[in-house]
Amino acid sequence: MLDCVLGLVYCGDEKCVLCKKDIYDDENICKMCKDNIKICRDSFQIGNYDHEFSCYSSAYYSGAMMELIIKLKYKNSFRSGDIIASYMKDTIYNSNIDFDVLTYVPMTKKSLKKRGYNQSEYLARTLGKYVGKPVICCLTKTKDTKDQIGLSR
Ligand SMILES: [Zn+2]
Repeated sequence: MLDCVLGLVYCGDEKCVLCKKDIYDDENICKMCKDNIKICRDSFQIGNYDHEFSCYSSAYYSGAMMELIIKLKYKNSFRSGDIIASYMKDTIYNSNIDFDVLTYVPMTKKSLKKRGYNQSEYLARTLGKYVGKPVICCLTKTKDTKDQIGLSR
């Protein structure tokens, strides 16, 4: 249903989601803005001896990627989310990441009501379609956390 609505809203929109320049393929971002995304190829481990997990980032939080994230989080730009999910897909394939399901960080009811959607869930569901994996809701938010914006590293 969401895809149908978005398809109607975005049908024929052939402008870059960031700079609004005309684009002539089925992507949502122009080459110039794409070149402004700094891909990250590093990974690191978290956890302890019993349970260690590999963490990957698709791109650095700067330039065009930062703009895409802000547009998804604060300006309802689902086209930006599609682009971000596409970079996440590339990371999965390029790093040969094997997994069974995708999940997402839940929001409090208050935050969800304020934004109207969970951007993390949107990314997970879009990525799930791209890689053909199921998306499950298996995490619970137990306390209201501060917005990442304005927090220190
Ligand atoms: Zn552009």
